[in-house]
Amino acid sequence: MSDTNSAATAASSAFAQLALQPALLENLTALGYSEMTPIQAQSLPAVLQGKDVLAQAKTGSGKTAAFALGLLQGLDVKSLNVQGLVLCPTRELADQVAGEIRRLARLIPNVKVLTLCGGMPIGPQFSSLEQGAHIVVGTPGRVQKHLDKESLSLAALKTWVLDEADRMLDMGFADAMREIAKVCPRQRQTLLFSATYPEDIQRLSTEFQRNPLSVRVESTH
Ligand code: ADP
Ligand code: MG
Repeated sequence: MSDTNSAATAASSAFAQLALQPALLENLTALGYSEMTPIQAQSLPAVLQGKDVLAQAKTGSGKTAAFALGLLQGLDVKSLNVQGLVLCPTRELADQVAGEIRRLARLIPNVKVLTLCGGMPIGPQFSSLEQGAHIVVGTPGRVQKHLDKESLSLAALKTWVLDEADRMLDMGFADAMREIAKVCPRQRQTLLFSATYPEDIQRLSTEFQRNPLSVRVESTH
């Protein structure tokens, strides 16, 4: 590769070239995130434009920030309604994702991220939901339960994220995801992230997404 090309490649993967709000950019620098990872570089421009994205890249490739920055960039902090919903297969993953969203949101005051996971007492979740949240991260079964009980409203939802969609399918969450999809506003952004690309991921995308951009970062080994 010529010098010119490598310079162009480096420039094109800097977070600074995205039209992110200053608080997000400043925080990324503070966190030591200077260059986008390949999956971030391929998906973030479309995510920030509000498009549906179907993204596949192996574990550890930085998929969380690829959707979290989209959620945070589009957030109206003054309106304490659930604007982003992230579904994860397990409580551990939901806690990790919520932690990463909070880290990325550090310089935006008053962003409320709430986790709603199965295996946790439901009482405190009712109280937290009454206080309000901007972003909910949870497991499909428990999120569905809160929707059934009307303790969670998705009327103001802008972006729905299915993280580790392949594992959610493996764990039998397809029906729960379908029930949740019925309650999501039709006008929404749907982001589907997966480490692998089995056939049923394509089916899920067809069911839930509109004209998605499909991006895949092949494993180098
Ligand atoms: P995945 O969801 O693809 O498994 P994660 O989102 O958990 O990957 O990210 C893996 C690790 O990489 C995390 O520790 C995260 O903080 C870090 N990371 C993500 N994006 C960047 C970046 N652009 N620069 C530096 N570190 C990053
Ligand atoms: Mg992940």
